[in-house]
Amino acid sequence: MPAQLLDGKALAKKTEQELSERVSDLKARNGGRAPILATILVGDDPASATYVKMKGNACERIGMESLRVEMPSSTTTDELLAKIDELNNDPNVHGILLQHPVPEQVDERACFDAISLAKDVDGVTCLGFGRMSMGEKAYGCATPKGIMRLLEAYDIPLEGKHAVVVGRSPILGKPMAMMLLNANATVTICHSRTKNLAEIIGQADIVVGAVGRPEFIKAEWIKDGAVVVDAGYHPEHKVGDIELAPLTGRVSAYTPVPGGVGPMTINTLIYQSVDSGENSIGG
Ligand code: NAP
Repeated sequence: MPAQLLDGKALAKKTEQELSERVSDLKARNGGRAPILATILVGDDPASATYVKMKGNACERIGMESLRVEMPSSTTTDELLAKIDELNNDPNVHGILLQHPVPEQVDERACFDAISLAKDVDGVTCLGFGRMSMGEKAYGCATPKGIMRLLEAYDIPLEGKHAVVVGRSPILGKPMAMMLLNANATVTICHSRTKNLAEIIGQADIVVGAVGRPEFIKAEWIKDGAVVVDAGYHPEHKVGDIELAPLTGRVSAYTPVPGGVGPMTINTLIYQSVDSGENSIGG
């Protein structure tokens, strides 16, 4: 049987229709004012500028507003903290996205953690991560939460399955592992010091690639029938972190690259921004 394509692009598009309706209901209850996502871009990294633009465009497609804040690459931690404080205290702003990475002189962790929990719609604060891990209410980190929403939409069973997450970054691997654990998967987290990576991946019912290296995870390491989730995208090669092409005939499901995880990340950001708007304005 051919593998099921976990089509993030299609799911994101479908969800945008539902979000548009929720936003127009919200506007009707809020004197015509739409919820606002503030996006902060620090510096002039072209890839980051593109991501921020895509996030702003997604807001516009569903009728939300985005407040685009751009700061120079010489910005200090204190200047960025002051801007975040201002946005935290602005009752018209319902979500704050600080685009990662920030220039190296800025303490990114301090700035992420300055975002108030109620506006942390990208799920980047330690507090949000801790609460999510403990099963308490918090917005999920956008990429792993987007993956969970995609797996759920396709009824991929997680309970009792062995999930292997390759990567342990604060915005992807770690929250991914906790979300899968909360869904009752048995989770192994691998990283750059892991021994016998191929052997561990060979035991996985679900593999999540979050390494940041083109086709680093080889098709031959992955067992027949596994569910393959590729969070990576390397536009220069048009591939992700997993060697996908040889797998499509023998795994049970996989996320395409592009069109799998990427659209779900942005979709989750705007989904959680609408949630935040409803929480603040009244759902
Ligand atoms: P990252 O911060 O660079 O983390 C990479 C992780 O991979 C680290 O935990 C690292 O381990 C691990 N790793 C590196 N070399 C390894 C090796 N030889 N064996 C096993 N593990 C190894 O990257 P990230 O931000 O998590 O992103 C990962 C990928 O997801 C990238 O391709 C990125 O483009 C993509 N991404 C996509 C989206 C999206 O919206 N689609 C969003 C975010 C990221 P150590 O911790 O030991 O160094």
